[in-house]
Amino acid sequence: MSVIYQKVALIGLGLIAGSMAHAMRRDGLAGEIVGTARSAETRAVARDIGLCDRVVDSASEAVEGADLVVLAVPVGAMGRVAGEIAPHLAPGATVTDVGSVKKDVVDQVGHHLPEGVHFIPGHPLAGTEHSGPRSGFAELFENRYTLLTPVEGSDPEAVARLRALWEGMGANVEEMDAEHHDLVLAVTSHTPHLIAYTMVGVADHLRRVTESEVIKYSAAGFRDFTRIAASDPTMWRDVFLTNKEAVLDILGRFTEELFVLQRAIRMGDGDALHDYFTRTRAIRRGIIEAGQDTDAPDFGRVKPRKGGDAG
Ligand code: NAP
Repeated sequence: MSVIYQKVALIGLGLIAGSMAHAMRRDGLAGEIVGTARSAETRAVARDIGLCDRVVDSASEAVEGADLVVLAVPVGAMGRVAGEIAPHLAPGATVTDVGSVKKDVVDQVGHHLPEGVHFIPGHPLAGTEHSGPRSGFAELFENRYTLLTPVEGSDPEAVARLRALWEGMGANVEEMDAEHHDLVLAVTSHTPHLIAYTMVGVADHLRRVTESEVIKYSAAGFRDFTRIAASDPTMWRDVFLTNKEAVLDILGRFTEELFVLQRAIRMGDGDALHDYFTRTRAIRRGIIEAGQDTDAPDFGRVKPRKGGDAG
């Protein structure tokens, strides 16, 4: 494939930026990849494993002359980083991000950017429970969706170029409004994560089931919750702080449904439970048919690495 951006600056060098670096290099999509991270330790690891062509010590240095800048830090840090890089951005550059929440990022970042710089927020719906500069891999985005949420007046050519980069990394790309994105993700990712955190918390508090029993018999469903609940605490704190309204909306609906099932169990209403589980099974089938998960036994766990949840 051919070079899409001459110089890509990655700000933050964790799972998502690292995976982008691997994928761009595999497919020759960037002339040069320059990266930076907040801590000297992460920068040292990135240099050590050769994650980027160059690792520099500051975000302002990284973005100099870059035609694409990717903000790949937790959502709550986007505004501060945007303020830091703004005076150093090249005219005509595109600034994008990979944050799991979009409306808040638009509000935090947009006003910092100078005229003539294109701002095209984005979110790859792909991730794992791992984080840090060693956790990335080139296949993470393959056959996963990346959602772009262009702001009003975005230059169509700049959007098309960013779309081409994501497609080059294997993603299916769609565009939507930032607010709608946040509602969709509250349903498909944010609230499920909160439920997983809660379930693991409940087991932790439940002294009638010993810790060793919880671990030993975890394959009965609990194990999948623990994997999700092992996700990065900073990232997820920021997701809930910045997508508050949509998550509270979906959580309200979730609690209502929970009461419906609770009542059916109490009343011994087997038909209601059976009908409910039949409907939910059809949703699972739809996800597999859309190629967004595997039908393999035990979720294909024999494979060593599998991209899974979207933040
Ligand atoms: P990660 O592996 O934890 O890496 C985060 C990076 O951001 C690190 O380089 C870290 O630097 C830096 N960072 C952390 N706090 C910062 C701060 N306050 N100021 C500046 N830099 C800071 O995270 P990730 O999973 O790649 O996530 C990055 C973004 O992608 C987040 O916005 C997240 O919402 C989004 N996302 C994540 C997933 C997922 O499943 N993980 C999926 C889709 C989108 P140090 O290493 O030096 O601390």
